[in-house]
Amino acid sequence: MARLGSWIETFPEGIYVRPADAWIDPSQPKPRALITHGHGDHARGGHGAVLATPETLAIMGLRYGEQSGQPVAYGESVRVGDVEVSFVPAGHVLGSAQIVLEHKGEKIVVSGDYKRRADPTCHEFVPVPCDVFITEATFGLPVFHHPDTAGEIDRLLHRLHSDESRCVLVGAYALGKAQRVISELRRRGHEDPIYIHGALERMCALYEEHGIPLGELRLATGVPKDELRGRIVIAPPGALNDRWSRRLPDPVTAMASGWMRIRQRARQANVELPLVISDHADWHELTCTIRELKPREVWITHGREEALKHWCLTHQIKACELNLVGYEDEED
Ligand SMILES: [Zn+2]
Ligand SMILES: [Zn+2]
Repeated sequence: MARLGSWIETFPEGIYVRPADAWIDPSQPKPRALITHGHGDHARGGHGAVLATPETLAIMGLRYGEQSGQPVAYGESVRVGDVEVSFVPAGHVLGSAQIVLEHKGEKIVVSGDYKRRADPTCHEFVPVPCDVFITEATFGLPVFHHPDTAGEIDRLLHRLHSDESRCVLVGAYALGKAQRVISELRRRGHEDPIYIHGALERMCALYEEHGIPLGELRLATGVPKDELRGRIVIAPPGALNDRWSRRLPDPVTAMASGWMRIRQRARQANVELPLVISDHADWHELTCTIRELKPREVWITHGREEALKHWCLTHQIKACELNLVGYEDEED
């Protein structure tokens, strides 16, 4: 009998599904690509045809211009070559999907990036039991435990209200994290206008067009210093320490990222208020998900592969690393 998943080949630049003649999240332009979600390390420009959720296609359209391809909504299933393909929510960012592949009686799930926590800006992760689970392992070490999101948001609000002569500047990835932080702030009762960096404007508008309300947002650029006192300003991580932020009134620099669990990272980035808010599964969620799906094999795409592989082997699940290149979740 052929080995499990023998119809899938992995190359440094991505996963190739031979009977579909299609690549998953390839880092090089390909004639046909299946894309899990819109982050730049997974969704690149220049492919011939793209199959992705309508939200992901819209995000790619914003970044790379109109995509030729086919939208596949959650729950819909399409035949690509000799493979049945469907997209199932991954809970990572708007439109993010696990890609479910069925061929010759085998079911293979490619998780893409995923998380299990509730997130008001995207659909919750749907577990799909399968033969092979191809998973990420960004936070694949037992030391990674993401705290409760509401608690982190409350720390942010507490800091804001403790000195209203300052503003709190939050660094957050432009796709997903920024909108999630805004949405979580609204849920915690913060209704004041939130000021955003210009680089976030179009992505926030796209979220709103897809039915994710973000409340009143104002562009921070050109706003007098005094108006920003006691306000929350959100910017991409790269803008935290650059010239742009010098015009803000004595900002408390915060950063929303799973990496803020590591104190040294926060210090290196001059972050005064580290907020541990991640769009990836932590160690507990990675291992619980594998227990829940009961795959016969686990293939690990990127992150801290070693520890997760070891965990699988000690739980009698065959596991291997795929050694793909080009995935970067450093700003999560
Ligand atoms: Zn991602
Ligand atoms: Zn990623």
